[in-house]
Amino acid sequence: MKENIWNKYNNEDLELLNYVCDEYRNFISKSKIEREVIKNSIKMVESKGFVDLKKIINNNEKLKPKDKVYINNRNKSLALFVIGDEDITKGMNILGAHVDSPRLDLKANPLYEDTEMAYFDTHYYGGIKKYQWVTIPLSLHGVIAKKNGDLINVVIGEDEQDPVIGITDLLPHLGQEQLKKEASKVIEGEKLDILIGSAPQKKSNNSEDNKDLVKKNILNILKNKYDIEEEDFLSAELEVVPAGKAKDFGLDRSMIMAYGQDDKVCAFTSLKAFLDVENCNRTIGCILVDKEEIGSVGASGMESSFYEDALREICVLLGHNEVTALSRTLSNSFMLSSDVNAAYDPLYSDVMDSRNSSYFNNGVVFCKYTGSRGKSGSNDADAEYIAKLRKIMDDNNVYFQISELGKVDKGGGGTIAYILANKNVNVIDCGVGVLSMHAPWEVTAKSDIYEAYKCYKSFLKDA
Ligand code: MN
Ligand code: MN
Repeated sequence: MKENIWNKYNNEDLELLNYVCDEYRNFISKSKIEREVIKNSIKMVESKGFVDLKKIINNNEKLKPKDKVYINNRNKSLALFVIGDEDITKGMNILGAHVDSPRLDLKANPLYEDTEMAYFDTHYYGGIKKYQWVTIPLSLHGVIAKKNGDLINVVIGEDEQDPVIGITDLLPHLGQEQLKKEASKVIEGEKLDILIGSAPQKKSNNSEDNKDLVKKNILNILKNKYDIEEEDFLSAELEVVPAGKAKDFGLDRSMIMAYGQDDKVCAFTSLKAFLDVENCNRTIGCILVDKEEIGSVGASGMESSFYEDALREICVLLGHNEVTALSRTLSNSFMLSSDVNAAYDPLYSDVMDSRNSSYFNNGVVFCKYTGSRGKSGSNDADAEYIAKLRKIMDDNNVYFQISELGKVDKGGGGTIAYILANKNVNVIDCGVGVLSMHAPWEVTAKSDIYEAYKCYKSFLKDA
């Protein structure tokens, strides 16, 4: 462990640190799921003069240095570009973070009644410890797409006046057998059903109509609020996440507790750095992408051809019609895969290598390789690239640490780093240390958030 970086800050640093962290806390409180992150990010970039690339294409316009464009992929991923003065085929500086987080998704036929209680049936998304999700206040976020083309946005459980929903657990008095089970089986996936109601609708004179009255009452409430029928759940994406706002954490307010900091802490700091940096010679990019937590698959995940296709469009709009433009751009580009790292937890020191862990308040974390058990599946960044980044960090007074995720045989993890690395981009993982990663409420240190922001800005300007 190096020196705690709070010791190194002057008043000016502390003012900016608090400014960045307050903005982050507000952003993440309103941006709990990927669609909300993308919607709020588009608002931010449009206010800074970014234009939808589709408009440029439709108007048969070209791109030129200093142009700022965005590409919205299915409201779940976003690619941003600021065109530099230097030719794009000399390479770009790219930040990439993911905006999806572990959660509980409603199944396609979610609503049922049992013993006069109404439930939503769920299928969890990403790696969770299932027992952490019971008996906490939960909220419902997402969209319902109707056959007539309407897309209804749903948020229930975040407003002070809103009700919350949740999952029940057995009382300890009757839980002796349950408590003998392994932690992964204490709560089974099929038991992650959300209790959403217990009051029946009024009985009618026709006894056939008097089945499932609690469920019918819930459907009436949804009909009144959103004008939807039960079958509209078939074309919905509804995600259950912890209810409530992000908070300062610790009696000294040195940390932040929030849902989904993996990876919105890096998504936010990347986006903010991207919008704040000025006068970059090279073309700079920022990617906010979906589906990392389930393997970066699908059209909105990093494995999709979406980003390459976008980059090809950009090259053509800059007058590069040669077939080599894309591959030259990629091979000359640098990227930080902005993703979180497991911070050292003294309560669980047995799974950490103390000389190669990341620590709270030790700055932004670079991770040469993730992967697991023999670096399997990792992007192993080049020594030369790391040396270049060390120089940029030192030149810009950015505090950083280099770590790996846990002891060699204890596990590991994946990020989006390998995906653009496979396209011949120089990539390294670089982000904020997190405690209680993938838990409903994750914890980060404010000084590390501030250093991540400084790191991303310096990288965009100087790489
Ligand atoms: Mn992540
Ligand atoms: Mn994760």
